[in-house]
Amino acid sequence: MQYCDLQMHSTHSDGTDTPRRLVELAKETGLTSMALTDHDTTTGLTEARQAGEQLGVQVISGVEITCEYGGKSMDMLGYCFDSGADELQEKLATIQEGRRERNLEIIDKLRALGHDISYEEVVAEADKADGKIVGRPHFATVMIRKGIVQERQEAFDVYLAEGGAAYVPKLAVSPEECVDMLRSAGGLAVLAHPKLIRFPKDKTIVDLLRDLKSAGLAGIECYYSLHSEEETANYLALAKDFDLLVTGGSDYHGGNKPEIKVGTGMGNLRIPQQCAEALLAYQSVS
Ligand code: AMP
Ligand code: ZN
Repeated sequence: MQYCDLQMHSTHSDGTDTPRRLVELAKETGLTSMALTDHDTTTGLTEARQAGEQLGVQVISGVEITCEYGGKSMDMLGYCFDSGADELQEKLATIQEGRRERNLEIIDKLRALGHDISYEEVVAEADKADGKIVGRPHFATVMIRKGIVQERQEAFDVYLAEGGAAYVPKLAVSPEECVDMLRSAGGLAVLAHPKLIRFPKDKTIVDLLRDLKSAGLAGIECYYSLHSEEETANYLALAKDFDLLVTGGSDYHGGNKPEIKVGTGMGNLRIPQQCAEALLAYQSVS
């Protein structure tokens, strides 16, 4: 059997390993293909592709973008796009600006709560590893270092996650916009980690998939580090019902999610190489 991992984050967003290191880890794990899916940026792809060519690991272009559906945020994965496409890069630049504004609001909230933390400190944390995208895991790292919280999960539960005291929603595009920006660059959209979705009131996964399918959704991430066998089977059945591609990813973030490993997630994850092949085949016929 051959395996792949189609969701990984590098130092270009909120992971702690460089793109090259991710490819090395994929190689060490024996994966045939991998996708780098940094949040809101494609800047790590060149390094990942070069490393992939040197090490014999197929690297698929990827990105993770937040969408808004019924007032709730959910993540979409984009694959197989041309990262040089102007329209895609312009849209990503707008999303990145929205993220910067949101980060400043998070700082304002933390400071209003009496915590001594500056945006410069959080940017410096992301910059340490040449990251251009500053996200909540960077806030969490600085908050631990400064003793505002004892551990990462506390930073999210008390402050940064939805319902937390310093939570600010991210600028999110509509599913249609997300699909269009990826399609215009020759790519496709996949619904990320369905288990983590917080559904709008009165909406089920079936409603969501029906609506997203009509917006142009191409696939669903059935294999995921936090999905049980039963949940995976359920998502595979839904993929079949809605004629969606099946994908899978670990959501590896290095030290920012230390319990998750490339390719194997929390230990039991195995993502068939067929998932990578299906993405590439879809691209060639669409
Ligand atoms: P951001 O892109 O700034 O919204 O941050 C998203 C990242 O924060 C995700 O990829 C996770 O690594 C992490 N994250 C989001 N929600 C939580 C949570 N409730 N607990 C722990 N980590 C989380
Ligand atoms: Zn992340």
